[in-house]
Amino acid sequence: MKIYNSLTRKLETFTPNEENTVRMYTCGPTVYHYAHIGNLRTYIFEDILEKGLEYLGYNVLRVMNVTDVGHMTSDADTGEDKMQKGAQRENKSVYEIANFYEAAFFSDCAKLNIRKPSVVERATSHIDTYIKMIQKLLDTGYAYQSNGNIYFDVTKSNNYYQLSGKKPEELFIGVRETVEEDKNKKNPYDFGLWFTVSKFSNQEMKWESPWGIGYPGWHIECSGISYKFLGEYLDIHCGGVDNIFPHHTNEIAQSEAFLGHKWCNYWVHGEHLNDSAGKMSKSKGEFLTVDLLEKKGYHPLAYRFFCLNSHYRNQLVFSYEALEGSQNAYKKLKKRIKQLDKKTLPLSDKTDFYITKFKEAISNDLNTSSMITLVYDVLKDDELNDYTKLHLIDHFDEVLSLDLIEEEKTIDEDIEAMIMKKISERNAAKKNKDYEKADKIRAELLEKGIKIIDGRDKTTYEII
Ligand code: AMP
Ligand code: ZN
Repeated sequence: MKIYNSLTRKLETFTPNEENTVRMYTCGPTVYHYAHIGNLRTYIFEDILEKGLEYLGYNVLRVMNVTDVGHMTSDADTGEDKMQKGAQRENKSVYEIANFYEAAFFSDCAKLNIRKPSVVERATSHIDTYIKMIQKLLDTGYAYQSNGNIYFDVTKSNNYYQLSGKKPEELFIGVRETVEEDKNKKNPYDFGLWFTVSKFSNQEMKWESPWGIGYPGWHIECSGISYKFLGEYLDIHCGGVDNIFPHHTNEIAQSEAFLGHKWCNYWVHGEHLNDSAGKMSKSKGEFLTVDLLEKKGYHPLAYRFFCLNSHYRNQLVFSYEALEGSQNAYKKLKKRIKQLDKKTLPLSDKTDFYITKFKEAISNDLNTSSMITLVYDVLKDDELNDYTKLHLIDHFDEVLSLDLIEEEKTIDEDIEAMIMKKISERNAAKKNKDYEKADKIRAELLEKGIKIIDGRDKTTYEII
Protein backbone atom coordinates (compact mmCIF):
# COMPACT_ATOMS: atom_id res chain seq x y z
CA MET A 1 0.00 0.00 0.00
CA LYS A 2 1.14 3.53 -0.74
CA ILE A 3 0.25 6.13 1.83
CA TYR A 4 1.21 9.78 2.23
CA ASN A 5 3.43 10.22 5.27
CA SER A 6 3.31 13.73 6.78
CA LEU A 7 6.62 13.07 8.51
CA THR A 8 8.58 12.73 5.26
CA ARG A 9 6.06 14.63 3.10
CA LYS A 10 6.18 11.76 0.61
CA LEU A 11 3.96 9.01 -0.70
CA GLU A 12 5.55 5.90 0.77
CA THR A 13 5.13 2.15 0.59
CA PHE A 14 3.59 1.07 3.85
CA THR A 15 5.55 -1.59 5.75
CA PRO A 16 4.47 -2.34 9.31
CA ASN A 17 6.99 -3.21 12.01
CA GLU A 18 5.49 -6.65 12.44
CA GLU A 19 4.43 -8.56 9.35
CA ASN A 20 0.64 -8.47 8.85
CA THR A 21 -0.09 -6.56 12.05
CA VAL A 22 -0.71 -2.82 12.09
CA ARG A 23 -0.52 -0.83 15.31
CA MET A 24 -2.64 2.24 14.73
CA TYR A 25 -3.42 5.14 17.03
CA THR A 26 -6.01 7.81 16.35
CA CYS A 27 -6.66 10.90 18.45
CA GLY A 28 -10.18 10.82 19.81
CA PRO A 29 -12.76 13.50 20.52
CA THR A 30 -12.65 16.17 23.20
CA VAL A 31 -15.99 15.46 24.82
CA TYR A 32 -17.10 18.95 25.86
CA HIS A 33 -19.68 19.36 23.11
CA TYR A 34 -21.17 17.50 20.16
CA ALA A 35 -18.76 16.63 17.38
CA HIS A 36 -19.32 18.75 14.29
CA ILE A 37 -19.45 17.07 10.90
CA GLY A 38 -15.91 18.35 10.22
CA ASN A 39 -14.57 16.33 13.17
CA LEU A 40 -16.56 13.38 11.88
CA ARG A 41 -14.97 13.67 8.43
CA THR A 42 -11.66 12.83 10.13
CA TYR A 43 -13.18 9.79 11.87
CA ILE A 44 -14.72 8.61 8.57
CA PHE A 45 -11.28 8.75 6.92
CA GLU A 46 -9.69 6.86 9.83
CA ASP A 47 -12.46 4.25 9.69
CA ILE A 48 -11.86 3.71 5.97
CA LEU A 49 -8.11 3.47 6.57
CA GLU A 50 -8.61 0.80 9.23
CA LYS A 51 -11.09 -1.18 7.13
CA GLY A 52 -8.97 -0.74 3.99
CA LEU A 53 -5.94 -2.18 5.76
CA GLU A 54 -8.05 -5.09 6.94
CA TYR A 55 -9.28 -5.67 3.40
CA LEU A 56 -5.66 -5.88 2.29
CA GLY A 57 -5.17 -8.64 4.85
CA TYR A 58 -3.65 -6.83 7.82
CA ASN A 59 -4.68 -7.42 11.39
CA VAL A 60 -5.25 -3.89 12.71
CA LEU A 61 -4.83 -3.12 16.40
CA ARG A 62 -6.43 0.27 16.77
CA VAL A 63 -6.49 2.44 19.87
CA MET A 64 -8.27 5.75 20.41
CA ASN A 65 -8.41 8.06 23.40
CA VAL A 66 -11.29 10.15 24.64
CA THR A 67 -10.08 13.56 25.81
CA ASP A 68 -11.94 14.31 29.01
CA VAL A 69 -9.21 16.40 30.64
CA GLY A 70 -6.55 18.94 29.79
CA HIS A 71 -7.48 20.32 26.35
CA MET A 72 -7.52 24.12 26.33
CA THR A 73 -9.50 26.23 23.87
CA SER A 74 -6.16 27.01 22.31
CA ASP A 75 -4.23 23.91 21.24
CA ALA A 76 -1.28 25.23 23.26
CA ASP A 77 -1.58 25.43 27.05
CA THR A 78 -3.52 28.64 27.16
CA GLY A 79 -7.13 29.78 26.96
CA GLU A 80 -9.95 28.12 28.83
CA ASP A 81 -10.20 24.46 29.75
CA LYS A 82 -12.66 23.01 27.19
CA MET A 83 -14.25 20.61 29.67
CA GLN A 84 -14.73 23.31 32.32
CA LYS A 85 -16.23 25.53 29.66
CA GLY A 86 -18.72 22.80 28.72
CA ALA A 87 -19.64 22.26 32.38
CA GLN A 88 -20.24 25.97 32.94
CA ARG A 89 -22.29 26.27 29.76
CA GLU A 90 -24.66 23.54 30.90
CA ASN A 91 -24.43 23.94 34.63
CA LYS A 92 -23.27 20.33 35.06
CA SER A 93 -20.20 18.64 36.45
CA VAL A 94 -17.26 17.98 34.15
CA TYR A 95 -17.86 14.24 34.56
CA GLU A 96 -21.50 14.55 33.52
CA ILE A 97 -20.46 16.55 30.46
CA ALA A 98 -17.82 13.96 29.54
CA ASN A 99 -20.21 11.02 29.86
CA PHE A 100 -22.97 12.71 27.92
CA TYR A 101 -20.84 13.88 24.97
CA GLU A 102 -18.85 10.67 24.78
CA ALA A 103 -22.12 8.75 24.33
CA ALA A 104 -23.33 11.35 21.79
CA PHE A 105 -20.07 10.97 19.85
CA PHE A 106 -20.36 7.19 19.56
CA SER A 107 -24.02 7.47 18.62
CA ASP A 108 -23.04 9.84 15.75
CA CYS A 109 -20.30 7.40 14.74
CA ALA A 110 -22.77 4.52 14.66
CA LYS A 111 -25.10 6.49 12.37
CA LEU A 112 -22.18 7.11 10.03
CA ASN A 113 -21.11 3.44 10.14
CA ILE A 114 -17.82 4.43 11.79
CA ARG A 115 -16.77 1.35 13.72
CA LYS A 116 -15.73 1.87 17.35
CA PRO A 117 -11.99 1.10 17.66
CA SER A 118 -11.30 -2.10 19.59
CA VAL A 119 -9.62 -0.11 22.38
CA VAL A 120 -11.14 3.21 23.46
CA GLU A 121 -9.66 4.73 26.61
CA ARG A 122 -10.52 7.86 28.56
CA ALA A 123 -7.64 10.20 29.32
CA THR A 124 -8.67 10.34 32.99
CA SER A 125 -8.24 6.55 33.38
CA HIS A 126 -4.45 6.53 32.94
CA ILE A 127 -3.05 9.25 35.18
CA ASP A 128 -0.57 6.76 36.72
CA THR A 129 0.96 6.09 33.28
CA TYR A 130 1.45 9.81 32.57
CA ILE A 131 3.03 10.32 35.99
CA LYS A 132 5.50 7.49 35.30
CA MET A 133 6.41 8.95 31.93
CA ILE A 134 6.75 12.51 33.23
CA GLN A 135 8.98 11.30 36.07
CA LYS A 136 11.31 9.66 33.56
CA LEU A 137 11.36 12.81 31.41
CA LEU A 138 12.35 14.80 34.51
CA ASP A 139 15.01 12.25 35.48
CA THR A 140 16.56 12.32 32.02
CA GLY A 141 16.55 16.12 31.74
CA TYR A 142 13.92 16.47 29.01
CA ALA A 143 11.47 18.08 31.40
CA TYR A 144 11.81 20.70 34.10
CA GLN A 145 9.78 21.98 37.01
CA SER A 146 8.90 25.64 37.11
CA ASN A 147 6.68 27.33 39.64
CA GLY A 148 4.87 24.07 40.46
CA ASN A 149 4.26 22.98 36.86
CA ILE A 150 6.23 20.48 34.76
CA TYR A 151 7.19 21.44 31.21
CA PHE A 152 8.86 19.63 28.33
CA ASP A 153 11.97 21.45 27.11
CA VAL A 154 11.68 21.37 23.31
CA THR A 155 15.29 22.46 22.81
CA LYS A 156 16.31 18.98 24.08
CA SER A 157 14.53 17.32 21.19
CA ASN A 158 16.67 17.10 18.03
CA ASN A 159 13.81 16.68 15.55
CA TYR A 160 11.15 18.93 17.05
CA TYR A 161 10.45 20.69 13.74
CA GLN A 162 10.36 17.62 11.48
CA LEU A 163 6.62 16.91 11.43
CA SER A 164 5.39 20.47 11.00
CA GLY A 165 8.21 21.24 8.53
CA LYS A 166 8.29 24.74 9.93
CA LYS A 167 11.27 26.79 11.02
CA PRO A 168 11.37 27.86 14.70
CA GLU A 169 10.84 31.51 13.68
CA GLU A 170 7.69 30.57 11.74
CA LEU A 171 6.24 28.69 14.70
CA PHE A 172 7.12 31.55 16.99
CA ILE A 173 4.97 33.96 14.95
CA GLY A 174 1.97 31.65 15.50
CA VAL A 175 2.68 31.34 19.19
CA ARG A 176 3.01 35.09 19.64
CA GLU A 177 -0.18 35.88 17.78
CA THR A 178 -2.56 33.43 19.34
CA VAL A 179 -1.23 32.59 22.76
CA GLU A 180 -0.77 34.52 25.93
CA GLU A 181 2.71 34.03 27.30
CA ASP A 182 3.31 31.59 30.17
CA LYS A 183 6.17 33.12 32.17
CA ASN A 184 7.07 29.74 33.69
CA LYS A 185 8.33 28.36 30.38
CA LYS A 186 12.00 28.54 29.39
CA ASN A 187 11.20 28.56 25.66
CA PRO A 188 8.01 29.77 23.98
CA TYR A 189 6.95 26.34 22.66
CA ASP A 190 7.81 24.30 25.72
CA PHE A 191 4.60 22.59 26.68
CA GLY A 192 2.95 21.55 29.92
CA LEU A 193 3.15 17.93 31.03
CA TRP A 194 1.62 18.45 34.46
CA PHE A 195 -0.01 21.46 36.06
CA THR A 196 -0.31 21.94 39.79
CA VAL A 197 -0.90 25.65 39.51
CA SER A 198 -4.28 25.94 37.86
CA LYS A 199 -5.47 29.31 36.78
CA PHE A 200 -9.00 28.00 37.18
CA SER A 201 -10.19 28.33 40.76
CA ASN A 202 -12.97 25.78 40.09
CA GLN A 203 -10.75 23.09 38.49
CA GLU A 204 -12.75 19.90 39.16
CA MET A 205 -10.47 17.18 37.82
CA LYS A 206 -7.27 16.79 39.82
CA TRP A 207 -5.09 13.98 41.07
CA GLU A 208 -2.21 13.37 43.49
CA SER A 209 1.23 13.42 41.90
CA PRO A 210 4.85 13.56 43.13
CA TRP A 211 4.74 17.29 42.26
CA GLY A 212 1.50 18.12 44.04
CA ILE A 213 -2.21 17.85 43.28
CA GLY A 214 -2.88 18.72 39.68
CA TYR A 215 -3.80 17.53 36.22
CA PRO A 216 -1.99 16.44 33.04
CA GLY A 217 -1.38 18.51 29.92
CA TRP A 218 -3.30 17.54 26.81
CA HIS A 219 -0.54 15.94 24.74
CA ILE A 220 0.75 13.40 27.29
CA GLU A 221 -2.52 11.44 27.23
CA CYS A 222 -2.03 10.24 23.64
CA SER A 223 1.62 9.28 24.21
CA GLY A 224 0.61 7.51 27.44
CA ILE A 225 -2.40 5.60 26.10
CA SER A 226 -0.59 4.61 22.92
CA TYR A 227 2.40 3.33 24.92
CA LYS A 228 0.23 1.43 27.36
CA PHE A 229 -1.95 -0.32 24.76
CA LEU A 230 0.26 -0.55 21.67
CA GLY A 231 3.76 -0.72 23.12
CA GLU A 232 6.96 1.04 22.10
CA TYR A 233 6.57 0.95 18.31
CA LEU A 234 3.67 2.43 16.44
CA ASP A 235 3.01 1.97 12.71
CA ILE A 236 0.38 4.63 12.02
CA HIS A 237 -0.79 7.69 13.90
CA CYS A 238 -3.72 9.68 12.50
CA GLY A 239 -5.64 12.87 13.12
CA GLY A 240 -6.82 16.00 11.36
CA VAL A 241 -4.23 18.40 9.92
CA ASP A 242 -4.75 20.87 12.77
CA ASN A 243 -3.24 18.23 15.07
CA ILE A 244 0.15 18.38 13.33
CA PHE A 245 1.23 21.33 15.45
CA PRO A 246 1.39 21.46 18.37
CA HIS A 247 -0.36 18.22 19.38
CA HIS A 248 1.42 15.58 17.28
CA THR A 249 4.70 17.47 17.28
CA ASN A 250 4.62 17.36 21.08
CA GLU A 251 3.54 13.73 21.18
CA ILE A 252 6.60 12.78 19.10
CA ALA A 253 8.95 14.87 21.26
CA GLN A 254 7.83 13.38 24.58
CA SER A 255 7.31 9.78 23.37
CA GLU A 256 10.71 9.56 21.71
CA ALA A 257 12.42 11.20 24.68
CA PHE A 258 10.69 8.70 26.98
CA LEU A 259 11.33 5.63 24.82
CA GLY A 260 14.83 6.55 23.67
CA HIS A 261 14.13 5.62 20.04
CA LYS A 262 11.92 6.45 17.06
CA TRP A 263 8.29 5.88 17.92
CA CYS A 264 5.91 6.05 14.94
CA ASN A 265 6.78 5.49 11.28
CA TYR A 266 3.72 6.85 9.42
CA TRP A 267 1.79 10.00 10.28
CA VAL A 268 -1.40 10.24 8.27
CA HIS A 269 -3.49 13.41 8.40
CA GLY A 270 -6.92 14.19 7.05
CA GLU A 271 -7.68 17.61 5.56
CA HIS A 272 -10.48 19.72 6.94
CA LEU A 273 -14.08 20.11 6.05
CA ASN A 274 -14.77 23.84 5.81
CA ASP A 275 -17.97 25.77 5.51
CA SER A 276 -18.43 28.58 3.02
CA ALA A 277 -17.21 31.06 5.66
CA GLY A 278 -13.98 29.10 6.17
CA LYS A 279 -13.00 26.99 9.16
CA MET A 280 -15.78 25.00 10.79
CA SER A 281 -16.45 25.95 14.38
CA LYS A 282 -18.57 24.88 17.33
CA SER A 283 -19.18 28.43 18.46
CA LYS A 284 -19.52 30.50 15.29
CA GLY A 285 -22.12 30.22 12.53
CA GLU A 286 -24.40 27.20 12.23
CA PHE A 287 -23.14 24.35 14.41
CA LEU A 288 -23.30 21.47 11.93
CA THR A 289 -24.02 18.18 13.65
CA VAL A 290 -25.32 14.82 12.44
CA ASP A 291 -28.49 15.54 14.36
CA LEU A 292 -29.00 18.81 12.49
CA LEU A 293 -28.49 17.08 9.13
CA GLU A 294 -31.09 14.47 10.11
CA LYS A 295 -33.55 17.16 11.19
CA LYS A 296 -33.13 18.75 7.78
CA GLY A 297 -33.98 15.45 6.14
CA TYR A 298 -30.52 14.14 5.24
CA HIS A 299 -29.47 10.58 5.87
CA PRO A 300 -26.15 10.37 7.80
CA LEU A 301 -24.83 7.91 5.20
CA ALA A 302 -25.44 10.51 2.48
CA TYR A 303 -22.88 12.60 4.38
CA ARG A 304 -20.47 9.64 4.49
CA PHE A 305 -20.99 9.24 0.72
CA PHE A 306 -20.31 12.99 0.29
CA CYS A 307 -17.01 12.65 2.20
CA LEU A 308 -15.88 9.52 0.37
CA ASN A 309 -16.28 11.16 -3.01
CA SER A 310 -13.32 13.39 -2.24
CA HIS A 311 -9.80 12.43 -1.21
CA TYR A 312 -8.94 12.67 2.47
CA ARG A 313 -5.98 14.94 1.69
CA ASN A 314 -8.12 17.53 -0.09
CA GLN A 315 -10.03 20.23 1.68
CA LEU A 316 -13.74 19.83 1.25
CA VAL A 317 -16.28 22.63 1.36
CA PHE A 318 -19.64 21.82 2.84
CA SER A 319 -22.88 23.19 1.42
CA TYR A 320 -26.43 21.91 1.62
CA GLU A 321 -26.59 21.97 -2.19
CA ALA A 322 -23.58 19.64 -2.42
CA LEU A 323 -25.01 17.36 0.27
CA GLU A 324 -28.36 17.31 -1.52
CA GLY A 325 -26.54 16.22 -4.69
CA SER A 326 -24.76 13.46 -2.77
CA GLN A 327 -27.98 12.31 -1.14
CA ASN A 328 -29.71 12.05 -4.53
CA ALA A 329 -26.80 10.15 -6.05
CA TYR A 330 -26.63 7.87 -3.01
CA LYS A 331 -30.34 7.07 -3.13
CA LYS A 332 -30.17 6.43 -6.88
CA LEU A 333 -27.23 4.11 -6.43
CA LYS A 334 -29.00 2.14 -3.72
CA LYS A 335 -32.10 1.88 -5.91
CA ARG A 336 -30.06 0.48 -8.80
CA ILE A 337 -28.49 -2.09 -6.51
CA LYS A 338 -31.89 -3.04 -5.12
CA GLN A 339 -33.10 -3.88 -8.62
CA LEU A 340 -30.42 -6.54 -9.08
CA ASP A 341 -31.68 -10.10 -9.21
CA LYS A 342 -30.67 -11.95 -6.04
CA LYS A 343 -30.84 -15.44 -7.58
CA THR A 344 -27.66 -17.43 -6.91
CA LEU A 345 -25.53 -17.99 -10.03
CA PRO A 346 -21.89 -18.97 -10.59
CA LEU A 347 -19.55 -16.01 -10.08
CA SER A 348 -18.37 -14.41 -13.32
CA ASP A 349 -14.75 -14.81 -14.39
CA LYS A 350 -14.11 -11.08 -14.00
CA THR A 351 -14.72 -11.18 -10.23
CA ASP A 352 -11.03 -11.25 -9.35
CA PHE A 353 -10.29 -8.46 -11.77
CA TYR A 354 -12.60 -6.15 -9.82
CA ILE A 355 -11.34 -7.29 -6.43
CA THR A 356 -7.81 -6.48 -7.60
CA LYS A 357 -8.95 -3.07 -8.86
CA PHE A 358 -10.56 -2.36 -5.50
CA LYS A 359 -7.37 -3.31 -3.66
CA GLU A 360 -5.44 -1.02 -5.98
CA ALA A 361 -7.75 1.88 -5.10
CA ILE A 362 -7.14 1.26 -1.38
CA SER A 363 -3.42 0.93 -1.97
CA ASN A 364 -3.31 4.19 -3.92
CA ASP A 365 -3.24 6.39 -0.82
CA LEU A 366 -6.79 5.42 0.07
CA ASN A 367 -8.51 6.59 -3.07
CA THR A 368 -12.11 6.46 -1.89
CA SER A 369 -13.62 8.12 -4.95
CA SER A 370 -12.05 5.41 -7.16
CA MET A 371 -13.56 2.81 -4.82
CA ILE A 372 -17.00 4.34 -5.40
CA THR A 373 -16.40 4.57 -9.16
CA LEU A 374 -15.73 0.84 -9.11
CA VAL A 375 -19.22 0.24 -7.69
CA TYR A 376 -20.65 2.05 -10.72
CA ASP A 377 -18.29 0.18 -13.08
CA VAL A 378 -19.50 -3.14 -11.68
CA LEU A 379 -23.14 -2.13 -12.12
CA LYS A 380 -22.49 -1.13 -15.73
CA ASP A 381 -20.50 -4.20 -16.72
CA ASP A 382 -22.59 -6.46 -18.97
CA GLU A 383 -20.14 -9.31 -18.57
CA LEU A 384 -21.11 -9.70 -14.91
CA ASN A 385 -24.30 -11.45 -13.84
CA ASP A 386 -26.42 -9.80 -11.14
CA TYR A 387 -25.31 -12.25 -8.50
CA THR A 388 -21.64 -11.37 -9.15
CA LYS A 389 -22.47 -7.67 -9.02
CA LEU A 390 -24.10 -8.13 -5.62
CA HIS A 391 -21.21 -10.25 -4.44
CA LEU A 392 -18.65 -7.58 -5.44
CA ILE A 393 -20.61 -4.64 -4.07
CA ASP A 394 -21.07 -6.50 -0.81
CA HIS A 395 -17.28 -6.96 -0.67
CA PHE A 396 -16.56 -3.31 -1.41
CA ASP A 397 -19.04 -2.27 1.24
CA GLU A 398 -16.94 -3.97 3.92
CA VAL A 399 -14.69 -0.94 3.46
CA LEU A 400 -17.07 1.74 2.18
CA SER A 401 -19.70 0.94 4.82
CA LEU A 402 -22.51 2.68 2.96
CA ASP A 403 -25.14 -0.01 3.57
CA LEU A 404 -25.31 -0.48 -0.19
CA ILE A 405 -27.08 -3.83 0.05
CA GLU A 406 -29.17 -3.20 3.09
CA GLU A 407 -32.46 -5.05 3.10
CA GLU A 408 -35.17 -2.42 3.12
CA LYS A 409 -37.61 -2.96 5.95
CA THR A 410 -41.03 -3.42 4.37
CA ILE A 411 -44.04 -1.91 5.94
CA ASP A 412 -47.66 -2.97 5.99
CA GLU A 413 -50.05 -0.58 4.16
CA ASP A 414 -52.32 -0.13 7.22
CA ILE A 415 -49.36 0.76 9.40
CA GLU A 416 -48.13 3.23 6.83
CA ALA A 417 -51.57 4.88 6.79
CA MET A 418 -51.55 5.07 10.60
CA ILE A 419 -48.10 6.74 10.58
CA MET A 420 -49.13 9.29 7.96
CA LYS A 421 -52.27 10.10 9.98
CA LYS A 422 -50.17 10.65 13.12
CA ILE A 423 -47.71 12.82 11.21
CA SER A 424 -50.47 15.07 9.92
CA GLU A 425 -52.01 15.28 13.43
CA ARG A 426 -48.60 16.29 14.73
CA ASN A 427 -48.11 18.89 12.01
CA ALA A 428 -51.50 20.36 12.87
CA ALA A 429 -50.58 20.44 16.58
CA LYS A 430 -47.31 22.22 15.73
CA LYS A 431 -49.16 24.75 13.62
CA ASN A 432 -51.44 25.46 16.61
CA LYS A 433 -48.33 25.79 18.81
CA ASP A 434 -49.51 22.78 20.84
CA TYR A 435 -45.94 21.48 21.23
CA GLU A 436 -46.87 19.19 24.09
CA LYS A 437 -49.23 17.23 21.83
CA ALA A 438 -46.68 17.26 18.99
CA ASP A 439 -43.97 15.85 21.28
CA LYS A 440 -46.40 13.23 22.61
CA ILE A 441 -47.14 11.97 19.09
CA ARG A 442 -43.41 11.85 18.29
CA ALA A 443 -42.72 9.87 21.49
CA GLU A 444 -45.67 7.54 20.83
CA LEU A 445 -44.32 6.64 17.38
CA LEU A 446 -40.76 6.35 18.64
CA GLU A 447 -41.91 3.79 21.16
CA LYS A 448 -43.20 1.73 18.22
CA GLY A 449 -39.80 2.03 16.52
CA ILE A 450 -40.86 4.78 14.11
CA LYS A 451 -38.71 7.89 14.04
CA ILE A 452 -40.15 11.13 12.70
CA ILE A 453 -37.76 13.22 10.61
CA ASP A 454 -38.59 16.90 10.15
CA GLY A 455 -37.17 17.88 6.79
CA ARG A 456 -36.93 21.35 5.34
CA ASP A 457 -40.06 20.94 3.26
CA LYS A 458 -41.82 17.88 4.60
CA THR A 459 -41.92 15.41 7.43
CA THR A 460 -40.86 11.85 6.75
CA TYR A 461 -40.22 8.82 8.94
CA GLU A 462 -37.76 6.01 9.38
CA ILE A 463 -38.24 2.53 10.85
CA ILE A 464 -35.52 2.01 13.47
P1 AMP B 1 -11.34 17.57 18.84
O1 AMP B 1 -12.60 16.91 19.36
O2 AMP B 1 -11.41 19.05 18.78
O3 AMP B 1 -10.12 17.09 19.61
O4 AMP B 1 -11.15 17.12 17.32
C1 AMP B 1 -11.39 15.81 16.89
C2 AMP B 1 -10.79 15.57 15.53
O5 AMP B 1 -11.38 16.38 14.52
C3 AMP B 1 -9.28 15.85 15.45
O6 AMP B 1 -8.65 14.77 14.78
C4 AMP B 1 -9.19 17.11 14.63
O7 AMP B 1 -7.98 17.18 13.92
C5 AMP B 1 -10.37 16.95 13.70
N1 AMP B 1 -10.93 18.19 13.13
C6 AMP B 1 -11.14 19.39 13.75
N2 AMP B 1 -11.74 20.26 12.91
C7 AMP B 1 -11.92 19.63 11.72
C8 AMP B 1 -12.51 19.98 10.45
N3 AMP B 1 -13.03 21.17 10.23
N4 AMP B 1 -12.50 19.05 9.47
C9 AMP B 1 -11.98 17.81 9.68
N5 AMP B 1 -11.44 17.41 10.86
C10 AMP B 1 -11.41 18.29 11.87
ZN1 ZN C 1 -3.84 12.91 20.37
